[in-house]
Amino acid sequence: MTKTYTFKGLLTTGGWIPNAVVTVNEDGKIQSIKASDIPEGEYIDGYALPGFQNAHSHAFQYAMAGLAELHEGQGTPDDFWSWRTAMYNLALTMSPDHLEAIAAMLYAEMARHGYTAVAEFHYLHHDKNGKPYSNLAEHGERLIAAAQRAGINITLVPMFYQQGGFGKPAEDKQKRFISATIEDYYKLVESSKKAAKRYNNAAVGIGIHSLRAVKANDIISVCNNLEKHTPFHIHVSEQLKEIEDSLNYCGERPVEWLLNHTDMNENYHLVHATHLDDVEVQGIAKSGANVVICPSTEGNLGDGLFRFADYKALQGNWSIGTDSHVGLNPFEELRLLDYGQRLTNHKRNTYFLPGQGDSGFNALKQAWISGKKAMGETRSDFFEIGATLDAVILDAKSPLTASAASKNLCNTFVYSSDVSNVLGTIINGKWVVKQGAHINYESIVSNFITTMNDLGSRL
Ligand code: ZN
Repeated sequence: MTKTYTFKGLLTTGGWIPNAVVTVNEDGKIQSIKASDIPEGEYIDGYALPGFQNAHSHAFQYAMAGLAELHEGQGTPDDFWSWRTAMYNLALTMSPDHLEAIAAMLYAEMARHGYTAVAEFHYLHHDKNGKPYSNLAEHGERLIAAAQRAGINITLVPMFYQQGGFGKPAEDKQKRFISATIEDYYKLVESSKKAAKRYNNAAVGIGIHSLRAVKANDIISVCNNLEKHTPFHIHVSEQLKEIEDSLNYCGERPVEWLLNHTDMNENYHLVHATHLDDVEVQGIAKSGANVVICPSTEGNLGDGLFRFADYKALQGNWSIGTDSHVGLNPFEELRLLDYGQRLTNHKRNTYFLPGQGDSGFNALKQAWISGKKAMGETRSDFFEIGATLDAVILDAKSPLTASAASKNLCNTFVYSSDVSNVLGTIINGKWVVKQGAHINYESIVSNFITTMNDLGSRL
């Protein structure tokens, strides 16, 4: 059965369509889009933006969002590495049921904030003793099942994680992450693909946790064997110590190494890329690769600021991710990214592009195009015939929106909105969040609270 919606406005890459009538088929795929003075089907007093693409997530870390802020004072280290120890401790305690309940809650909250797809950078593979489950992709499948319950599209990216650091064996605390050989990793990928086939709206990518976590020869093999259009994700250059360790071990900086030893291209998604030199900034931009910037997590962890202005001047591609999920508001991610630049460059035109001065529009478009690629899709139009209808709807009655001309709408949303202005989220043609409420909220939240009480980590 088809379903028809009329939106007060629909954002396309060419601008707003007023009173947009959109019809979708039973699979949620768009059959037609037109402007009409007469509303058809369900009328929605709101503006439809393309659904946000969350290009970087570690679902289990949602369980510790906000917990790493009880600081102990002088003499006690409190940095990325001490945070990582706390994160490992959490990872060691989780069962498949725990993981699924936490991920379902997280993904439902993502949908409520306007994300319609997530790339799950997944490395918590094995049981508590570090033994593979009989279904190698047990946890991956739980993440896909969680996404299904939450109604969000998922690209599961099972990570190759082999060792504890450059030339160092894995630590005991990392035992749940490890694929000892490249063959083991590919078996995991195969199981993940089989699992994804059992569900709708799930895809699988390829990933290396970081240069420090996998041997150089194996990274090169994985990169050489990438299938066309498969997204390839890797953490890179997040921490200064990582750059130092890389220089000491192989004489090259992490991104420099990737540029010199692999065929970096538009399927690469370099997560963070915080600390780059000029050659690296230029190399990434020239290759067509994408940087996944996670401003709220990078700020929370004290990582540093990505060289956005330099990268943008070279027309570099980028998307956003929520990583540790200390923040889930996509507008806030875009603002933090912008304000980090404004505060250091003393200019306000971070997202300006020649011929297109609408910052909010530019930010939405750039993050969406690379975000789609991070999911394994190449798209250029926000809404097109044959694609699924994935949209976040902003309330037309919010005071700043109700009084704004169409040329000011994107900036009103990006610079002065939060989740209270989100009327709902439509994913695969259906309301997943309506009037601020997720369709499966009651069962997902009660399961989550039981799980957190069981784990005891938030008490
Ligand atoms: Zn990450």
